[in-house]
Amino acid sequence: MQWQSLVHLKVKRKGFPLLLLTLCKIPTMNFSDIGLSKDLLSSIERAKYESPYPIQIEAIPAILQQKDILGLAPTGSGKTAAYILPLLQLLLPHEAPRDRQPPVLVLVPTRELAIQVAEVTENFSRFLPRRIKSLAIFGGVSINPQMIKLGGVEILIATPGRLIDLVGRNAVGIGRIQTLVLDEADKMLQMGFREEMDHLLELLPKKKQTLLFSATEDKEVAVLIQELLKDPVRVQVAAEDFTPDLIQQEAYRVSPESKGPFLRQLIQSGDWKQILIFTSSIRTADNLVVKLTKNGIEATAFHGDKSQGARTEALSKFKSGKTRVLVATDLAARGIDIQALPLVINYELPRSPKDYIHRIGRTGRAGSMGQAISLITPEEQHHFKVIQKKMGKWVTLVPAEAFGKESTEQGEAPSE
Ligand code: AMP
Repeated sequence: MQWQSLVHLKVKRKGFPLLLLTLCKIPTMNFSDIGLSKDLLSSIERAKYESPYPIQIEAIPAILQQKDILGLAPTGSGKTAAYILPLLQLLLPHEAPRDRQPPVLVLVPTRELAIQVAEVTENFSRFLPRRIKSLAIFGGVSINPQMIKLGGVEILIATPGRLIDLVGRNAVGIGRIQTLVLDEADKMLQMGFREEMDHLLELLPKKKQTLLFSATEDKEVAVLIQELLKDPVRVQVAAEDFTPDLIQQEAYRVSPESKGPFLRQLIQSGDWKQILIFTSSIRTADNLVVKLTKNGIEATAFHGDKSQGARTEALSKFKSGKTRVLVATDLAARGIDIQALPLVINYELPRSPKDYIHRIGRTGRAGSMGQAISLITPEEQHHFKVIQKKMGKWVTLVPAEAFGKESTEQGEAPSE
C-alpha cells in the first residue's frame, strides 16, 4: 500500500481549498496489493501503469481465485488489463499446449477490438519468463494465414463467425477451454451474434471460468448472465467514473456555414500530432474528408461503409502517426484505443450523451491530458445542454471568433 497526495483532486472538486488538498493523503493500491506476481509487475511497470484502476482492483483478485466475473464496464475503464493480467498469471506455471486446443478464449464483437486485445496481451506477455502465445482471428480477411498460426496458442481472441469457421475446418478445438471471456457482450448481442454464440457455447466444456464484460445490462444481457455465470463477482464502473477529469473540454458557437472554415482554422492552429474528428453520419464524414483534402489537410475516413481492410489500414496509419486527421462516425468512439490522443473534435454532436462521453474518452487516456472541442450550431445548443447535464460537467460555450483569445475553462451551468 502506498500513500498518495490528493492534489489531483483539485481538478475534480472545484473550490476545495488547495491547502487542505496538498496536506491530505490517502492510501492508494499498488498492483502488488492485488495479488499479481513479480513477473507481471515488471510487465506492468514497462507499460507505465502506476496504480490499478477501480475495475482492476476488484476484478484481478477474483479472477486469480478463478471465480466468474460480471464486469459492467465500458471501454476506457481498463477492463482489458483487468482480465488479461490475471489470466497471464494463471497460465504462466503451466506448459504451453503443443496442439490447437487453447485454454483461454476471448470472444469479441469486432475485428478492431480483437486486434486491440491481442496488442495488450502481446505487450504484457513479451517480458514474461515464458512467452504466452496469443492470436487474434476475425473475418473479412483470408483464413489461411490465421490457420497456420493456431498451433500452441494459449489465448485465442476471436470474433464468433470466424471462430465457427475455423472450428468447422478442424483448425482449432475449443473443447478444452478453461476460461471464457466475453468482451463487450452487449455489443455482440446488438450485432446479432446470439446464434453464433450459442453454437460456440455448446462446444465449450461445461466446467469453466467465465468472465463477462458489458457496458450495459439490458434484458438480453441479463439472460446471458443468467445462463452463463455461476455465482459471479459483480464489478461495476460507471462511465462517469473514468471521464472527463483529464480532459479539457471546450465548445465554440458556430453557424452551419462557418463550421467547415472554423474546423480548418482549428486544425491549422495547433501542432497536434493526431486529431480525431467525429461526425454523426457517414455522409458528413466522407464530405469532410474531401473538403479537408481539397484544402491541403490530409485526412482519412473511418466508418461502417468502409471495408474491414480499409478500416484497419486507416486506423493503423492513424495510430502510427502517418495520417494526422481521422474523420470517424461513432464506430470509432468505442473499442478503439489510441494511446495519448491529444485532440478530439466533435464536428457534430452524437445523439446520446453516453456516446459523447465515449467520444471524448478517446483523448486524455492512460493518465495523459487531452483536449476535446465541440463545434455547436444554434440548433445543437439545446442538445449540448442535455449532454452536459447528463455528464454533470458544464462547458462554457464561446463564440468562434474568440478562439485563441479567451480562456475556455470549465464553466458553470448555462441558464436555460
Ligand atoms: P481499456 O478500457 O481496456 O480499453 O483501457 C483504456 C486505456 O487505459 C488503455 O489505454 C490502457 O492502456 C489504459 N490503462 C488501463 N489500465 C491502466 C492503469 N492501471 N494505469 C494507466 N493506464 C491504464
